[in-house]
Amino acid sequence: MGKATGFMEYVREEEKKRDPLSRLDDWKEYSFPFSNETLARQGARCMDCGTPFCHMGMEINGLTSGCPIHNLIPEWNDLVYRGKWKEALDRLLKTNNFPEFTGRVCPAPCEGSCTVAISDPAVAIKGIERAIIDKGFDEGWVQPRIPEKRTGKKVAIVGSGPAGLACADQLNQAGHSVTVYERADRIGGLLMYGIPNMKLEKEIVERRVRLLEEEGITFITNTEVGKDITADELRSQYDAVVLCTGAQKQRDLVIEGRELNGVHFAMDYLTETTKSLLNSNFADKKFIDAKDKHVIVIGGGDTGADCVATALRQKCKSVVQFGKHPALPKERAEGNPWPQAPLVFTLDYAYEEAKSKFGQDPRQFCIQTKKIVGDENGNVKELHTIQMEKSFDENGNAVFKEIPGTEKVWPCDLVFIAIGFEGPEQPVLKQFGVETVNRKVNAPYGKFTTNVEGVFAAGDARRGQSLIVWAIHEGRGAAREVDRFLMGATNLP
Ligand SMILES: Cc1cc2nc3c(=O)[nH]c(=O)nc-3n(C[C@H](O)[C@H](O)[C@H](O)COP(=O)(O)OP(=O)(O)OC[C@H]3O[C@@H](n4cnc5c(N)ncnc54)[C@H](O)[C@@H]3O)c2cc1C
Ligand code: SF4
Repeated sequence: MGKATGFMEYVREEEKKRDPLSRLDDWKEYSFPFSNETLARQGARCMDCGTPFCHMGMEINGLTSGCPIHNLIPEWNDLVYRGKWKEALDRLLKTNNFPEFTGRVCPAPCEGSCTVAISDPAVAIKGIERAIIDKGFDEGWVQPRIPEKRTGKKVAIVGSGPAGLACADQLNQAGHSVTVYERADRIGGLLMYGIPNMKLEKEIVERRVRLLEEEGITFITNTEVGKDITADELRSQYDAVVLCTGAQKQRDLVIEGRELNGVHFAMDYLTETTKSLLNSNFADKKFIDAKDKHVIVIGGGDTGADCVATALRQKCKSVVQFGKHPALPKERAEGNPWPQAPLVFTLDYAYEEAKSKFGQDPRQFCIQTKKIVGDENGNVKELHTIQMEKSFDENGNAVFKEIPGTEKVWPCDLVFIAIGFEGPEQPVLKQFGVETVNRKVNAPYGKFTTNVEGVFAAGDARRGQSLIVWAIHEGRGAAREVDRFLMGATNLP
């Protein structure tokens, strides 16, 4: 334990963010890493509890509590406090293949279950994690680790998101020859096309992919398994296949006016924006442009928030985000005790930016879109909404009731649908003949095996839309089971 009284002496500090207005002029990361002095103080706040809930990684009431990859948080907090950075990095890499991603964009369920957070703001775990790996790269400590021996076994991984990359990394380190197939033109899954550049700069993703390539992993882009190469071909060429295809089938809005020009899926908007930024710094104009437009995002989640931040950078005229649920309380509600993930009101980066630009939080709560209305040319012109009241029936199920007299018309030029995902796309799963449950691949947690011998599944394809840290956890778990399948035993964690 770093400093026995650290948690009483020092307060939590947040990573500094760039000014919300001026950061709208570029697509660079919006937060700054901690200074070394701040990091030492923040590391000192860790109490090194006997039972560190921060790394339990469990689901309680459907919410993640603690770190799913069981990062050895108290250990590296202590090492950072003592300035032993290299040792801290070694500890961190024992459990996390890609801390440079989670240290930036993980929602940090570890912090919600930090013991300090029972009475005070949590230890700044995520910021410390980011600092350790950034220092590791800056100091040249992160170097390619080329496996000394090869087993002669070949594994194909379908999909290059965090689950596929973590699985590939583990299997490659175990000596297997790994090929990752990706239908997009760049590697990374939602790390690349989904999460916007200002949350996770794409050079950070590319740096990791280069390292994995140097370590021996083969990446094949622009290749859709099921179309460009069949399931049978893949199975005959490889000793095992891991399906890490994500859960990107978007949920559509069944509503009058859905077909109008200017109504788009959020993911199309986010993907095209990043692609155009990376390909040509927007010179190719191959993106949906919110400049001088009134923008409405339907869907109150994080994908919607990323659309808000993107529209702001494109200089939209206005932006609002509709959510169907009420605003969360400022403090934990009675039914949401520690160490559960705290369900409390926060001002995400996108909302902070919108507030700075337009003077108010862009979120509209308890609102339902009734119809979308277009002009004579078929372009979206306005949205008609009504306020809703949320209550619970005798079985505890949420019930939404319209409030008469709260109808409203919103002028609008662009609508982004961000109401969630329906699970993985089915055709590739069908071609492999794998069974599904609720559209997700039926591969028991911990085993990751499907009904088809030698075919495994991990990440969102198996569990539904989730978090990067769960994808890494599942990729590691599937790698362990593939290694066991190929070799009869495994040393992978
Ligand atoms: C907009 C958005 C923002 C998010 N922000 C965050 C965040 O800030 N923090 C966080 O923790 N989580 C976030 N998430 C969730 C997180 O990104 C996902 O849970 C995670 O990426 C899932 O990883 P995965 O590897 O299972 O799948 P994915 O990342 O979805 O990757 C699947 C890959 O498989 C490829 N693929 C699919 N089918 C085929 C095929 N037949 N052949 C070849 N390739 C195929 C796809 O092109 C894709 O690249 C966000 C999600 C979205 C949509
Ligand atoms: S990966 Fe996420 S949950 Fe785990 S320690 Fe890092 S920020 Fe916390």
